[in-house]
Amino acid sequence: MKILVINCGSSSLKFQLIDSEDESVLAKGLCERIGMEGSRLVYTKAGSDKLVIESAMPAHTNAVQLVIETLTDKDNGVIKSLNDVDAVGHRIVHGGEKFSKSVLIDDEVIKAIEECNDLAPLHNPANLTGIRACKELMPDTKMVAVFDTAFHQTMPAKAFLYGIPYEYYEKYKVRRYGFHGTSHSFVSSRTAKLLGRPYDKLKTIVCHLGNGASISAVKDGKSVDTSMGLTPLEGLIMGTRSGSIDPAIIEFIANKENKSIKEVMDILNKQSGVLGLSGIGSDFRDLMSAMENNDERARTAIEAFCYQTVRYIGAYAAVMNGVDAIAFTAGLGENNSYIREKICSYLSYLGVEIDSEKNNVNGTETIISVDSSKVKVLVVPTNEELKIARETLELI
Ligand code: ADP
Repeated sequence: MKILVINCGSSSLKFQLIDSEDESVLAKGLCERIGMEGSRLVYTKAGSDKLVIESAMPAHTNAVQLVIETLTDKDNGVIKSLNDVDAVGHRIVHGGEKFSKSVLIDDEVIKAIEECNDLAPLHNPANLTGIRACKELMPDTKMVAVFDTAFHQTMPAKAFLYGIPYEYYEKYKVRRYGFHGTSHSFVSSRTAKLLGRPYDKLKTIVCHLGNGASISAVKDGKSVDTSMGLTPLEGLIMGTRSGSIDPAIIEFIANKENKSIKEVMDILNKQSGVLGLSGIGSDFRDLMSAMENNDERARTAIEAFCYQTVRYIGAYAAVMNGVDAIAFTAGLGENNSYIREKICSYLSYLGVEIDSEKNNVNGTETIISVDSSKVKVLVVPTNEELKIARETLELI
């Protein structure tokens, strides 16, 4: 079967066409600047060079149309016709409390996703646009919605409730949802496989450290806690997001700087994190070189990032009454050995011991702890698209 995986943002559309037989990626690409001047598709067919196709895409339907045309193009394509796409898997950011697993998309599901728009006003409407565009162009193809929040729906109330009046949960569903669920699920189950241990009898802490970063406690195959909350702003210090702060800071800064709540929220989302701390940038490659050139703020930003991660690891080892494995994933988790070593250097009390040589890896599945390490530490590259394709296949 050939599964088209779509991740639709407000002005972008990422896709992969995956062959479920051998789980290979036949082609992938990114439509950028949808609805703006200068829109283009960056397309890669397996084994070929990147291709940049400049084309006007006033709406997402045009983007899906261009993706289909390119996938079926006689020179650059990988399929003969649209009929060769057996199903489409859509990444949906917020499923609220309605969706604890992936579902086949029908009108009722679309309505339910719409009802979650309030909880993810930037993401869900864009995700829905992708669904509608595909529906318009391939009305007979089965489609599946895979939610970022679904994996964390197993969290107990004591973990997902905030200490605020209960009526806000009842009236508005204000609670912790957590995100990156597809990644936390993929990586935790892969960790069990790599260790040769049963997934339903393992305590794993997954550190998804990218530009957006979150951490989860996965006990016996279920997410029992995670660092992101009602929105992806909570938790770890991220590239540009503050992560957890004292909520009183919002009013304090608003008063001092004469800003609205919306403006302060914008600062917390886009100008904070390691960017805000360092004044240099959000990409850790830039921060690492600045630190090597003795930039103290860059060093402090990196240290604060690692320290905050260590705090959560300690908390999650505590709530699970122990931890068997810690898995690092996403851009930093997979590629930055310095960060991994720094974080693990705090964890000797848990019985964590890293092998520096094994830790010297980039993007490869590896156990990086020494054989005698009580807690196993791994690098496990995430693959959200593959997970979406697998879930899609299962449902159709
Ligand atoms: P996003 O949340 O946007 O998907 P990523 O998972 O791509 O973010 O992570 C971005 C971070 O990962 C950056 O800070 C970058 O420094 C780091 N990173 C990504 N790829 C590499 C690489 N090949 N080598 C070193 N660092 C990398």
